[in-house]
Order: sequence, then structure tokens, then C-alpha cells
Amino acid sequence: MTDDVQNLIIIGSGPAGYTAAIYASRAQLEPLIITGTQMGGQLMITSEVENYPGFSESILGPELMERMRMQAERFGTKMVQDDVVDVDFSVYPFKVMASGGEYRALSVIIATGSSARWLDIPSETNMRGRGVSACATCDAFFFKEKVVAVVGGGDSAMEEACYLTKFASKVYLIHRRHEFRASKAMQERVLKHKKIEVIWDSLVEEVLGETKVTSIKVRNVKTSAINEVKLDGLFIAIGHVPNTSVFKGKVELDEMGYVVPKENTMTSVPGVFTAGDVCDTRYKQAITAAGCGCRAAIDADRWLHENDKL
Ligand code: NAP
Repeated sequence: MTDDVQNLIIIGSGPAGYTAAIYASRAQLEPLIITGTQMGGQLMITSEVENYPGFSESILGPELMERMRMQAERFGTKMVQDDVVDVDFSVYPFKVMASGGEYRALSVIIATGSSARWLDIPSETNMRGRGVSACATCDAFFFKEKVVAVVGGGDSAMEEACYLTKFASKVYLIHRRHEFRASKAMQERVLKHKKIEVIWDSLVEEVLGETKVTSIKVRNVKTSAINEVKLDGLFIAIGHVPNTSVFKGKVELDEMGYVVPKENTMTSVPGVFTAGDVCDTRYKQAITAAGCGCRAAIDADRWLHENDKL
């Protein structure tokens, strides 16, 4: 518990949160970043990042995040490794409640990112950690010379499928339509890979196995035919949902749960700003999150000065 009122609390430590911290600390706001117990956001579970400008030879996701964290610390950002469990934006200074204590702030940036979406079929939920995963970078190692499948048709699914070929003997890529939404470059990599077989127009209906996954039932949405595919692992890569459960009823969210930026990066509550995947329904890139973190820090700084809050 602390009685100090912070100029700015940044919630979340992905590219948006760290970039906001770098800009806010260089603007002398001495921000406090509440990082979440798992620091660094989604890039911590990514392998090579090839499209972040400035790294011509690519960089590993965790290394990129470590560099951002050190850059924020270098300019005096205060860090608390904790999860925010509640907020009260109806009082001022705002209240931010974390597991380990309560904080007050003159301004807040919500940069909590998003988490993997699941198929939400009961057998999938039961087999999580027993062959069902949403993170190839984390779990591919356990599938050396095994057969696995990836579900999804976006860039994440392509990336996971390619990564898994380094370990697995065969990778099925199961997509519900006959066309991927992934970028052409990623599609090409997948379609020409000898270890990857695409199962088009299909949905996973059931995951089978007792203590570990042994097969899945796949339904062709055009013919309704159901096939059993024998495999050892199933990787779900069907997009993400924004991490906004603690902000429900506190700031305006859209019907999908994303924070709605009302004026530039400011939310429906003046003094509360947002950045990154938590408010991005369209781009969802590390570089766009970082750019948005910069904008949110500048907006927070201007709002604090223009409204004589400091
Ligand atoms: P995404 O682009 O939203 O793709 C999700 C995929 O999952 C879609 O193909 C979708 O099918 C499918 N899907 C959704 N719900 C499903 C369900 N219930 N059952 C079966 N399939 C389902 O998500 P993403 O691939 O995670 O990518 C998110 C963003 O991050 C994108 O902007 C992407 O470009 C970016 N990204 C970039 C990179 C990179 O550049 N290296 C890597 C990863 C992600 P439909 O196509 O039929 O809708």
C-alpha cells in the first residue's frame, strides 16, 4: 500500500506499455508501470521478430522486450511486477488496485494487451497442457518427431505452423475456410513447406485422448464429413481477445471488449488513456503498439499540463 500519488500509472508491459514508459519518463513524469506478473506481453512467447524496424537480422521477442524494459528503466521508470485486479476511475486521483497494494494516479494508460482465443469446446479445455496449447514457442519442444496440428488461417497460425516444423515430423494446418487471411509472404512459406499439410474448410469438433491428446475429430464445413486425425499435439492460433475484464464498466469498451479511444488515445474517462492491442481491432503489430504507446504518453503529458494537474 502506498499513499503517494503517481503522475502516471501505466498498466501493462508490452511494446505499448514500455514505449509509453520511455516517453513519459523522458518527459519527467516519473511513471510507475505495473507490469503484470508475466512481464513483457505477447512478444515474450514469440520467437524471431522479423518486422520490427531497426533489427535487420531479426531479434528474438524476449530480447526485444528486455531491451525495451532496460530503456524505460534507464530514464527512471518505476516498475512493480504485479497484476491489476481492479480500478476506480470515479474518484480523483484515480485508484488502481493490484494484488499487492493500492495505488493513486493523476493519469493512467491502459496497455494490457490481449490473450489467445480458444475454440471453447469442452474437450479442448480439458486437454490444455496435455497436448493442447496456444503457444508453439512455449511448447513445440515437447513435440520432437511427433504429429501436430495448428488451427487458424491468420499470420499467427502460419508462424506457429512454420515454427513447429523445426520439431514435429508433420504439421497439419486446419482452417475453416478455403483462403487464408495471413500475409502473402507467410502463406507462401506455409504452402511450399513439405512438412505442412493444409486441411481446408474444416473445424475441430473434438479432442480425443485420456491423459494426453491422441487424435482430433475434424468436420468439413462444406460436406459435413467427419474425419479422425491421429496426432500428439493441437495448437490453437485463432486470434486474441483484449485483456479488459478489470475495465468493464470503468471505461467505454466496444462489443468485442476492446477499449474505445474517444479523443486521440484518451478513453471515455478524461485522464485515462489507452494504447496497444487492448484498443486495436485492426493492426495488432508490435510496432503499431509501440507507436500508440508513444502517442498515449504524449497525450497524458499534455492533458496533465493543460489541466494543471501537476
Ligand atoms: P487473425 O488475423 O484474427 O486470424 C485468426 C484466424 O483464426 C482467422 O483465420 C480466423 O478465420 C480463424 N478463427 C477465428 N476464430 C475461429 C474459430 N472459432 N474456429 C476456427 N478458426 C477461427 O489473428 P492472428 O493470426 O493472431 O493475427 C492477429 C494480428 O497479428 C494480425 O494483424 C496479424 O497480421 C498480426 N500478426 C503478425 C505477425 C507477423 O507479422 N509476423 C505474426 C502474428 C500475428 P477466418 O479467416 O475465417 O476469419
